[in-house]
Amino acid sequence: MGRRKSNRKPPPKRKAIEPLDEQFNCPFCNHEKSCEVRIVRGKFSARVECRVCLEFFQTTTNVLSEPIDVYNEWVDACENAN
Ligand SMILES: [Zn+2]
Repeated sequence: MGRRKSNRKPPPKRKAIEPLDEQFNCPFCNHEKSCEVRIVRGKFSARVECRVCLEFFQTTTNVLSEPIDVYNEWVDACENAN
């Protein structure tokens, strides 16, 4: 009873590169995924910065803060400023 090594399924292909949750579209220059959020857990502060136009926003966080929260706060701040 020999094993046949045919019929092996190829491993599922992974999709190219999945975008990180920490990258968002820039509300200033409208580049996609150019804004990176960094949360400093120990200091309860976070910063989001656009790689393209270098706009940034800094805010305070709590233990529940997620990158999307920081980003939303930035967008809100932008809208309030306008
Ligand atoms: Zn930008």
